[in-house]
Amino acid sequence: MNKLTKLFMVGAFSSVLSVVPVRAGTLNFQTYFKVKTVKIQNNHDGYLNVFNGKDKKLFTAKRDVKTVYTTTTLNIRKAPSVDSKVIKTVQIGTKLKRIGDGSCGWDIVKLKDGAKGFVWDEYLSENNPFENLGRFRITYYCNCDECSEGYGRLTSTGHICYSDYTIAVDPDVIPYGTTVYINGNEYYADDCGGGINGNEIDIYVDHHELTTKNGVDYYDVFIKK
Ligand SMILES: [Zn+2]
Repeated sequence: MNKLTKLFMVGAFSSVLSVVPVRAGTLNFQTYFKVKTVKIQNNHDGYLNVFNGKDKKLFTAKRDVKTVYTTTTLNIRKAPSVDSKVIKTVQIGTKLKRIGDGSCGWDIVKLKDGAKGFVWDEYLSENNPFENLGRFRITYYCNCDECSEGYGRLTSTGHICYSDYTIAVDPDVIPYGTTVYINGNEYYADDCGGGINGNEIDIYVDHHELTTKNGVDYYDVFIKK
């Protein structure tokens, strides 16, 4: 390979970023950037430029301040890379201020303390698809006589309990058949229990040890609108 060809190839390779289809949306693309720190520069021409630590421009983001909502439990990262440090993890349905719509899928959000972070835009929605039912007391039960009041693995609706999926609810608060989101996980309201009233949820687990080990949690609970 002569020097000129080599130079050309290096040039071609370094410009790969700008020719990759912008909405690839694959895991490969998410991991494309291997950056730990970035610099965000507001060009005042409607765009934010994102540079890596060596001042090489990674991509531009359209400056577009908008309220968006997370459609999953989402990590806000320090840099546009899945290897990058997580600044904050937010729950499903969290309201965020998006300041930059990234050309590559990484959007820029601004947190309340002024810090800027990166999120993958497939997990953002302009309308909130979730409703926060408020804070619930979360406990755990199993199929033992003590926990299940003699029902074993059968729910009060006549179905089978599945570990980390079936939940017992107060059906006046959450109707049977509702898919419920707690701390980023999906559950199914299919059971009730004598001790479960109001803002209380019992999560079914396979082993009694887990019911004591997991103890009591308090989480915001979400349903799809
Ligand atoms: Zn038990």
